[in-house]
Amino acid sequence: MALTLPRPRFLLALWVAKAAAFLSARLRGGGATALPGLLAERLDPAFVATLAGRLEGGAVLVTGTNGKTTTARLLAEMLAAAGRGAVHNREGSNLTRGVASALAAASDWRGRPRDRRALALMETDEATLPAAAVALRPRAVAFTNLFRDQLDRYGEVDTVAARWRESLALLPPTTTLVLNADDPSVAELVLDWSGPLHWYSLAAARGASSSPGPADARWCRACGGAYRYEARYAAHLGRWSCSGCDRARPEPDTAAAAVESAPDGLRLTVPGLGDLDLPLGGLYNAGNALAAIALARALDLPESAIRDGLAAARPAFGRGELVALDGRRLRLLLCKNPAGASEALRLVEDGEGAVEVAFVLNDRHADGRDVSWIWDVDFERLAGRVKRCWAGGVRAEDAALRLRYAGWPEPVAAASRPAALLEALAHRSGDGPVTVLLTYTALLDLRAELARRGAFSESSGTRIPAATS
Ligand SMILES: [Zn+2]
Repeated sequence: MALTLPRPRFLLALWVAKAAAFLSARLRGGGATALPGLLAERLDPAFVATLAGRLEGGAVLVTGTNGKTTTARLLAEMLAAAGRGAVHNREGSNLTRGVASALAAASDWRGRPRDRRALALMETDEATLPAAAVALRPRAVAFTNLFRDQLDRYGEVDTVAARWRESLALLPPTTTLVLNADDPSVAELVLDWSGPLHWYSLAAARGASSSPGPADARWCRACGGAYRYEARYAAHLGRWSCSGCDRARPEPDTAAAAVESAPDGLRLTVPGLGDLDLPLGGLYNAGNALAAIALARALDLPESAIRDGLAAARPAFGRGELVALDGRRLRLLLCKNPAGASEALRLVEDGEGAVEVAFVLNDRHADGRDVSWIWDVDFERLAGRVKRCWAGGVRAEDAALRLRYAGWPEPVAAASRPAALLEALAHRSGDGPVTVLLTYTALLDLRAELARRGAFSESSGTRIPAATS
């Protein structure tokens, strides 16, 4: 085995990253995820490549508009069940600096991985994918879906698709692409790829009814024809074919033959694996589970690890997480674009009887400054089911206006500050949890206020920690 001396520049970057992580944990009581990696990458542009190259498990990337966090968490559970470690970038830090921070934290002071057999499991934004492809040389990359998302930050879906295609050219030819066969925009990647493929699909599922949600489908890139659908289960996802050429939804390698969905759990029937239970609700989580199963299969994880990993899953931060505060229960659902919000509403619809819903809308950079997307969300589907509702966030008045137009009852409150919203939520008489739909920074704000008040996360079984990013 060749012994190579660490480069001084690399060691300097590593030590600065570790010192920054240590100091920010001491000063803020939580782990800052971006700063250590940001400094390390400034000091040594090859930082991520150097550390990732020392992990014998290799790297896996998860990208796409929605479902990255849950898919990566499910795969991490499966890896743990197989006795394999994972170096995983933390929530909301899916730029390369977040990847650099995670790798630095998983290494000792000489840059040796604490667990050499571990695998780097990284969520990456569309914008970061090319750099991550080069630095991490992944064994597998999952593409979950392509929806319109924060247009002012990422540009149109065509721009994102173009960025994906550039990234393919940067991947090793042995990388396995794990592709959502139900999304024609994802399936088009095959036109630019001759390496290994693993397709997954939810469209065979019973109960995958046609959904009139917002469609972000484009024209067929091969012929310019329109996509048509035999069945659609969300937005432009479903059993599709092109009206102008012979392209159609590919035959999946991993598919759900049946899905039973409730707000708190799913049962998936997957050929080759049988019935799989996981304690996460919603059809979109069935899609995330299939993406994770497909990745696990691409990595040759044993069937028992797939089963045990799914059963051990807990909702990710703000993805259906149940929180208790002073006898009230809140179900937090992150929704950052029309497709995600419409899916969250469908999860509410799966519940029984009258429902109570709060919609918390911020317009900071990470949320997207333009809030016009809320008019593309199908709030109308819950008109008549909503017993009581609240509006919140920096743009509480816009949120309230949208709910009125959807035919919901007059909001109990339009509270721009998290503390005021929680006070307003206290004045209610319902039994079930209040579903709280939030944009990204609204979720961070509300969780900070919940932590201050000593709220308990029923999903993780612990108090909500003070700082999470
Ligand atoms: Zn076509």
